[in-house]
Amino acid sequence: MHDQTIIVHLHATAPTAACPQCGTAGSRVHSRYQRTMADVAFGGRNLVLKLLVRKWICPQASCSRHMFAERFPEVVQRYARMTDRLIKALQAAGVITNGADAAQIAESFGVPTTAKTIIRRVLQLPLPSEGSVRKVGIDEWAWKKGQRYGTILVDLEKRRVVQLLAERSVETSKTWLRKHPEIDLVSRDRGKLFREAATNGAPQAKQVVDRFHLQKNFAEALEKFFRKQERALKKAMQRSTGTTRSAERTAVPEKVAQERRARHRQRVNMHKRIWKLYRQGYHKEQIAQLVGISSRRVYRALEQETPPPPRRRSRSSSIVDPYLTYLASRWNQGCHNVARLYEEIVAASDIRGRSGRFRCGCVPFVRKSHALSPSRPSSGISLLRPEALRS
Ligand SMILES: [Zn+2]
Repeated sequence: MHDQTIIVHLHATAPTAACPQCGTAGSRVHSRYQRTMADVAFGGRNLVLKLLVRKWICPQASCSRHMFAERFPEVVQRYARMTDRLIKALQAAGVITNGADAAQIAESFGVPTTAKTIIRRVLQLPLPSEGSVRKVGIDEWAWKKGQRYGTILVDLEKRRVVQLLAERSVETSKTWLRKHPEIDLVSRDRGKLFREAATNGAPQAKQVVDRFHLQKNFAEALEKFFRKQERALKKAMQRSTGTTRSAERTAVPEKVAQERRARHRQRVNMHKRIWKLYRQGYHKEQIAQLVGISSRRVYRALEQETPPPPRRRSRSSSIVDPYLTYLASRWNQGCHNVARLYEEIVAASDIRGRSGRFRCGCVPFVRKSHALSPSRPSSGISLLRPEALRS
């Protein structure tokens, strides 16, 4: 025993050993040598086996194998530096967790190893067979979001992943689907790629749009619809609250207006360029790279075919406006009591009796103190003035 290591010396006692080439049992030992291998820990200590291996002489004169070493197929494989049971234990830990965690767990049990070893061992495991799949779900998965995608295939009945394909293309998906003529249903998104793959790869199968994408598309359609109705919604809201927001908008200096128009032109040109590339058949990620913007912006632009309207200043007046600076400083001083703030400014103002609306005006402050993320600017449905959140 050395510190944290227990060394066990072993040797086989069988009087004969069968030649792996011809099967004849040899009984004459030519020489011996030692093999060293790691085993599962013993009492929290690293266990090392020193196995004395005999080299036998094959008695069969015609055998090409004159000498052979004895083997222990149930304990350790040829040339292996670990016993079978240790490899199995590392694989099990690696499959359940991951390389780094499994290495740490093994270490704590007295088996020093590395994440790399664990991963190598897990990769040696045979892949589970795909079996037969009747109902399959197909979608993309990201190697790296926005850059490289693969394809995932799920057995919808057994609720398990059947296959991960390295790329997302009609060809690879089609090839895989063709290998499974038993498929009678393909659940997919509404994109062209998987539709084409399913049509050509599994013509016998019924195609359905999966619930996730259906809901996603529905939500997108609703959002698009309401975005278009922004003005109508605002008007309806004003009518229902009985307030007409004072239309007085501070006049915009010509230079500012010019810059605004230029920025809008840029946005429209970008929008047109994205749609043009999209119609030419480029993927969203490819467009993002070509145009030099994030793929998120491409996705947003493709939500709506009409170019974006000029951004309207969403600022509208509120009864709190004249006191914003005062309120902000009081808020920062630590006074978060809305009733008290109301009392403080009511003396010098005409908002007496309108504490309800005053409270409304204060909501952005209260919200901000709760560290809520700012609502989307001028979404039309928002009752709060988002610019106050950014102040
Ligand atoms: Zn032989």
